[in-house]
Parts: sequence; structure tokens; C-alpha cells
Amino acid sequence: MTDSPILLTPGPLTTHPATRQAMLRDWGSRDKAFIALTAELRTRLLAVANGQATHAAIPLQGSGTFIVEAAISTLVRKTDRLLVLINGAYGERILAIAQRHGLDAVALRAPEDQAIDPARVDATLAADPAITHVALVHCETTTGLLNPLESIAGVVAHHGKPLILDAMSSFGALPLDLAATPVCAVLASSNKCLEGVPGLGFALIAHDALAAAKGVSPSMSFDLHAQHQGFEANGQWRFTPPVQVVAALVEALRALESEGGPTARLARYQDNLRTLAEGMTRLGFPLYLDPAIQAPIIATFRPSPARPFEFEAFYDGLAERGFLIYPGKLTREDSFRIGCIGDLHRADFERLLAAVEQVLAREPA
Ligand SMILES: *Cc1c(COP(=O)(O)O)cnc(C)c1O
Repeated sequence: MTDSPILLTPGPLTTHPATRQAMLRDWGSRDKAFIALTAELRTRLLAVANGQATHAAIPLQGSGTFIVEAAISTLVRKTDRLLVLINGAYGERILAIAQRHGLDAVALRAPEDQAIDPARVDATLAADPAITHVALVHCETTTGLLNPLESIAGVVAHHGKPLILDAMSSFGALPLDLAATPVCAVLASSNKCLEGVPGLGFALIAHDALAAAKGVSPSMSFDLHAQHQGFEANGQWRFTPPVQVVAALVEALRALESEGGPTARLARYQDNLRTLAEGMTRLGFPLYLDPAIQAPIIATFRPSPARPFEFEAFYDGLAERGFLIYPGKLTREDSFRIGCIGDLHRADFERLLAAVEQVLAREPA
């Protein structure tokens, strides 16, 4: 077996061997053992966000975008108006999904390097009472920016509107307490901070919103109300589940609990980011974002204008040394990104920094 590369990406990412090991068996999708595994999955997902009393966990086959599309089209009706808060590519994607579904959607935009301002959300909701739903990206993976969830959720709840939260790159690490923070629907996937393998998204949806969503979705396979009905009826998935992905995610959720839950995971990611940011700054690559809004998920770096820098060569040099970084996603500037999440620890980042130094010095691998 060849060694896997170290993935310094926002996902799929480096997984623990026990998580990959959990995939080495076959499961009958309608057998008791897999029904129990699905039940454990749904219970554990709710527990991560303390949503047991208020929300239902609805897993769905596919990547993260699939669950975003499923949730928007299950919860927002043609007669509704969705306000999308946008400061990066994933906010733009929510808007594009709403438009593709012919929904009435309006955008409130902030620059890519600035958090969404709750006061502007408040003013927008006050000025347009026809808005029925609000969508927010918790951590904007475009840059690694953390939006102020608690204050925005407070504003949205004050106006009596449901909040749909794309928590794809924050769920499992950044704090989210559904008993304290009013969020109607939380969307995330298996292969980011939960450190599972890709192939599964899930929504945690408030029971009342879910009950009101019967027959809203124009889609058969993306209808989360129907998907939920399927689980409630017999504990089974409506259509073929990615059984190995589910097994890996349950293993990864057990590991999250053993690690000490999201608090411990966040501390590890913060340590990774600190090591990375200090080292990269020393090597001439300061963080793009103000540290006050930088989430310990993925960091954006800009090459200094003073030194010639070619991303392809930099990428290849690091790849030869076993590290896969990620291209930038800024619309206006050259940049690259390095992820802090996955089964990675400070020592991995120290080895990465040594590799960066070698590549910059054009030393042979
Ligand atoms: C990863 C991610 C998604 C979903 O991306 P997929 O490639 O479809 O898995 C959506 N929103 C955010 C914020 C993300 O980080």
C-alpha cells in the first residue's frame, strides 16, 4: 500500500486509519446491523450540535452541495423570498441554487475579506418584510473567514425568520449549540471537520420547519421531507446508501467523542493554524485575513509582490514531498490556501513548513 499524501485541503482530507479501516466490510443496506448504524449516525450528528430536542438529522447521498440544494428546495417555497448573505464563493453558490430553482432570492454582499455585519442584516430585514428565510455560510471556505453566527442568528430570530446555515466547513469543530442559537437548518458533510470520507451530506432541520415542508421540493431524490419520512418509517434509507461512507463517518464520530468533542477538535485545529501562520509569516507569506475573523479551518496566503512566485511549481514541489495544498479562490488576487483540518497535528505542520522552505530554496526533493 502506498502512503497517502497529507491533504492540506478543505476536504476530502487526511483521515485516521481507523476511519478508513471501518470501510473494509460489506453491509446489507436493509439489514438490522446497517439500520442500527444509520440510527447511531443520526443520533451522533444531532449530539454534535446539541439538537436532540429540537431538530431531526437527515443524511443524504452526495457531496456537500447536494445537501445545500436539497435543503433550499425543501424549505423555501416559490411564494417565499430568500435573503442570501454573501462574502465568498459558497454564498454565491447558495444564491445560484435558489435562482436555478426559480426561487425569489435577494443577496446582501460583503467583500471577501470582511465578515457579514449583523447590523446590515438587521437593516435589510427591516426594509424588506417580504423576506421569509435567510441563508448564511458559517465559515466561508473561499478564504477561511468566520462569520459571526451568534449575532446574525439573533438578528434573524428577532425578525422571526428561519436561518439556513451552511456549516459545511465548521460543523464538528466550531461551537454550535442548537439549544442556545436559533438556527432552523444546519447543513454539513462527512468529509470536513468530522474527518470522515466524502459521499454524504446531512441536514439538521427543526421539527416544525420540517413538518411544514411536505410536498414543497420539486425533486424526488432531493426531497428532505420525504427522506426523513423514509428514516422514520423503517430506519432505512429510501435509496441505496453509501454504506462504507456511513460506516466510516460513524467511526469518525466515535473518534470525535473520544478526542473530547468539538472543543478539543477546535483546540487542535487552532494549534495547527498557529503553527502554520507563524511559520508561513516567517517565510514571507502573511495571512490574507485579519486574524480576528480567521477560522482555524483553512488559511489563505498571498505571494509577496517582491518575490517571483509560481503556484504550479510551488504546488508540485510540495506534492513531491507528500503535501497537497489547495489553489486560491479569491476573485481579484493571486493566492493559495492551506487547510488546518483533518487527522493532522502540529508535527505535520512543522514538517510542511520545512518542505515549504526547501521548495522556496529550490532544493531537490
Ligand atoms: C465544501 C463546502 C461546500 C460543499 O462543497 P462540495 O464540494 O459539494 O462538497 C459548501 N459550502 C461550504 C462552505 C464548503 O466549505
